[in-house]
Amino acid sequence: MKTINDFNFEDKKALIRVDFNVPLNDEFQVTDDTRIQSAKSTIIKILEDGGSCVLMSHLGRPKGVDAKFSLKHIVDKVSEVIGVQVKFVEDCVGEAAEAAVAELKSGEILLLENLRFHGEEKSGDAAFAEQLSKLGDVYVNDAFGTAHRAHASTAVIAQFFPENKCFGHLLAKEIESIDKVLNNSEKPVLAVLGGAKVSSKITVIENILDKVDHLIIGGGMTFTFVKAQGGKIGDSICEDDKMDLALEILEKAKAKNVQIHIPVDVIAANAFDNNAETQISDVTQIPDNWQGLDAGPKSLENFEAVVNQCKTILWNGPLGVFEMESFAQGTIALGNFIDNATKNGAFSLVGGGDSVAAVKQFGFADKVSYVSTGGGAMLESLEGKVLPGIDAILN
Ligand code: AMP
Repeated sequence: MKTINDFNFEDKKALIRVDFNVPLNDEFQVTDDTRIQSAKSTIIKILEDGGSCVLMSHLGRPKGVDAKFSLKHIVDKVSEVIGVQVKFVEDCVGEAAEAAVAELKSGEILLLENLRFHGEEKSGDAAFAEQLSKLGDVYVNDAFGTAHRAHASTAVIAQFFPENKCFGHLLAKEIESIDKVLNNSEKPVLAVLGGAKVSSKITVIENILDKVDHLIIGGGMTFTFVKAQGGKIGDSICEDDKMDLALEILEKAKAKNVQIHIPVDVIAANAFDNNAETQISDVTQIPDNWQGLDAGPKSLENFEAVVNQCKTILWNGPLGVFEMESFAQGTIALGNFIDNATKNGAFSLVGGGDSVAAVKQFGFADKVSYVSTGGGAMLESLEGKVLPGIDAILN
């Protein structure tokens, strides 16, 4: 796996695909600079070598040129985070961009305008990718968040740098972390899959059964499994058309010697409301008109014991409706168990879908071994797919 550490960038222009798709408020100020921070190490290494950086990214989902989605809004923030005044050019291809790159000196950074102002970016147009490729000597992909997309700047462009293409530090770390969980893991391996629906996680579950020793299934998915086995789930969320699939998963897990752990009790509520009345209920005996919205105390005790046994832990999805304080306790407790396990030497990876939001909200981001920066890209990796952005660098 070639990374920027395999190159000396002295007098070279690095064309770096970053993921600066950051949230902006109404005044076009960056409200969360995590993604910019994440690219810092790659940029600094190249500048310290004596090279220069040409940064390209998308922002939002513009349909054509749209000032609202201009990357000029983030120039000051990027300059502040990196500690170098960043230059900006109002297009990502063509004469203006080529002229700005030609003027770029060692130690300087140029940010190109939003790639998605050109429809060719998303369609993966080869001619557009070739135009982009004129803007650097070495192509660096450091955008995990878009690595599952076969876009011009994330995958197609790599063919124009047959020898001079590599991963940035962030993308390399993402790849290593996934590998540490799925392929080179220290046993026992645990995956915790929570969240709302079986249907959105089914491919992950199927792929992961070959990789783990324990699987905790929590959150809204629980009830499809419980009902499929004859339990009474009241008004809890359930995908009736996925019950056969749930039973199949249980069978497969047995055959593969994977221990599945499902909540035995839940916090049931008489409405989907933070202020609803609640009671602790056996997961198979939830009264009519009540719904399970969080894992109960016995379940958490069981989960703690499982987490403590494991040396590798993957966490995807909350154990309850964590957005409401009354139903966030299970997710917080699980975060604490994983924090302890990590302190005791386990490798813990959080990622995929919205998991990162929960982890950040409760302050666990610094307590686990690694928090992935890519929701969709992480999920697809866990599904066992080869991501186009990664494949394009490797092959
Ligand atoms: P996902 O994006 O699949 O990880 O799902 C996250 C969502 O699942 C969050 O918005 C949670 O509120 C929701 N969720 C977790 N547990 C439950 C539950 N017991 N009932 C309904 N929704 C849930």
